[in-house]
Amino acid sequence: MSFDSLGLSPHLLASIADAGYTSPTPIQSQAIPAIIDGADVLGAAQTGTGKTAAFVLPILERLGQSHEKKPRVLVLAPTRELAAQVAESVTTYGANTQLKRTVVFGGVGYQPQISAFKKGVDIVVATPGRLLDHLQNGNIDLSNLNTLVLDEADRMLDMGFIHDIKRVLKYVPSQRQTLLFSATFSNDIRKLANSLLTNPVEIDV
Ligand code: AMP
Repeated sequence: MSFDSLGLSPHLLASIADAGYTSPTPIQSQAIPAIIDGADVLGAAQTGTGKTAAFVLPILERLGQSHEKKPRVLVLAPTRELAAQVAESVTTYGANTQLKRTVVFGGVGYQPQISAFKKGVDIVVATPGRLLDHLQNGNIDLSNLNTLVLDEADRMLDMGFIHDIKRVLKYVPSQRQTLLFSATFSNDIRKLANSLLTNPVEIDV
């Protein structure tokens, strides 16, 4: 299996080659075409399966190469480390685009994050609490969002982020593509998935 048949543009195939990847992992070969197609995805995947590229690559495919001012993609992640890692992947795979991304988490100053929003970003990667602060203060406008990703949703629930996530959702258009990844599937995750996803493609690797 190669990356060539998944529907990715040449500029993304070039980034993949630069990263040294020769073939997609199982979650990538299943998720990439489904996400490019616009489907909601419910993915059961541990860290280390290549799940980050499995959603970042098709999201970049859908965004195209041109920058727009209002965010079109939001990725929610449980920790600053994971948020930073996802943002890093966006930079790596998006190297041949004009797209801009920013990463938002707590425990650091607000001002640099506000400045990044003002300049305009295509992709926001955030932990739920700090993003909610920005939304409630009117610092960021997510009305143009077309894709929402919940990465490591089980950890976000374990860390008590469910209420923050629900509040964030009030600022996000209900007409959107939603992708939810989780290593485990408790009843609470199933409930969350049922409330957020429409006819999801289920991927279990
Ligand atoms: P993740 O599961 O997203 O945390 O990714 C785990 C690691 O696998 C990361 O270091 C990626 O750079 C790497 N990786 C992702 N996709 C591939 C691939 N298709 N081939 C080889 N390595 C990959």
